[in-house]
Parts: sequence; structure tokens; C-alpha cells
Amino acid sequence: MAIAQSIHCSHCNGPIEFKPGEIIATCKYCGFTTVIQTGKPFTFAHSLLINNYSSSQIEELVRNWMSSGFMKPKDLEKKSKITETSLVYLPFWVISLETSTKYEGIFERITPPIVKKGEIKKEYNWLIIARQVASFPTREYDIPLAGKIPYDFRKIEGFAKLLNSEIDREEATTLTKQQIDTHHRFLIQQDIDRIIELSTTINVKQIVYLHAPIWFIKYYYKDKTYQLTVDGSKGMVLKGDIPSAKL
Ligand SMILES: [Zn+2]
Repeated sequence: MAIAQSIHCSHCNGPIEFKPGEIIATCKYCGFTTVIQTGKPFTFAHSLLINNYSSSQIEELVRNWMSSGFMKPKDLEKKSKITETSLVYLPFWVISLETSTKYEGIFERITPPIVKKGEIKKEYNWLIIARQVASFPTREYDIPLAGKIPYDFRKIEGFAKLLNSEIDREEATTLTKQQIDTHHRFLIQQDIDRIIELSTTINVKQIVYLHAPIWFIKYYYKDKTYQLTVDGSKGMVLKGDIPSAKL
């Protein structure tokens, strides 16, 4: 377990604890956000998605999930015991951008093969999770950005955990470019078989640092523990382990 260090908040002088690897920290007493290395205030937009569920509402949602849909054991809802529900505010970078990839390549699915040119034009709110969280399904998370408000520490429940960022703005932008390049190469494979030339341009329109409420749920069913990840803003199940129906 890493040892936490602390600095003093330059706004309220309260202690801000952080762990090695964290580079942007938010004060739990006043919500002020600091870049740890420089001690300077964080000057970019910091937003928050509000959690709209209580622990008992989340349990109800999980029970509904257990008793609906295909592929689940028929007694899943009845035989499961929810052993843990914890609310964590995860940090994300949301990079709103326009992008275009122009490409030229060879289409080999006909004889003789032909040279094809094309362009992919897209707009994204590209999401980068700002720290390592085992198996968080970032690409499946359709983040409900319409509900975001300026960060307000008073909206963070006392029992919830707020995680700091391990990735700065530049790194988030670099990762976004790499991921878009990979994603577009994947899309292009539907149109051509061999790439001759490819160039991607990205026009970043807005970058937001955001904390989103995510519930991590554990449940116990027939001698095993399973996990569920639920978005606390809209109540979407982002990921859920389902026991084999044959058990
Ligand atoms: Zn403070």
C-alpha cells in the first residue's frame, strides 16, 4: 500500500492528501483543485456529474438487473446477496474535437484490385479515464455530459471516495490522438485492405476535467463473488458479471 503524502490547500489551508503518481488533487474541504508538482491552482474547467442514486436505490437497480434479461440464472435475484456498494468519483478528461482522416489504399476484394481514396470525418467527446482503474469499461461509457455542472465539493457524499488524476491534460490529449488514429484505422479496414497513405487531423474544441459518480457493487452468488459497475448519474449498468446459467 502506497503511503499518502500531503500538501496544504492554497485556498483553505486544509490538508490535501495524495498518493505517488497522482498529479492533480482536489481539496475535500473546499473543492479547490491543485496541480501537485507545482502547488499551483488548476486553471482548466473542472466539472462534476451528480450522483442521483442512494445506496438502497442502487441495490434496487441491481436487483432489477439480476431479474431481467437473458442468459442469467433464473434464481440469480433470489439467491444473490449484495455484499458491497461503494460510490467512487472517477476523474476523466473529456476532449471534444472534430477530426478527419484522409486515406488511400488498395481494395483487394475484387479482381483486379483497385486503389481507393476516402475520408472519415467525425466529432467526438473522447473520454480518457485519468487513472488506472482495473477493467473500467471506458469505451462503453456513454458519459451523460448534458448533466455536468461546475465542480461543487458540497455535492460529494461523505461516504463517497474521490479519486485524483494521474494523467495531465497534455498526456490526455496525446492518448486521445493515438486512440483516434487506432480507431480510424479499424474503421478504414471496412473500406480498404491495405493502407498506402493515411493522415489524421484533429481540431480540439474543448477539454474538460470531470469527476463522474460510479458505483462499484459486489454480490455473492453460489460461493462466488461477482462485480457490477453502474453509472450514478443515469443509473446505467456499464458492466456486470453474470454467473453461468448452468451453475
Ligand atoms: Zn481547500
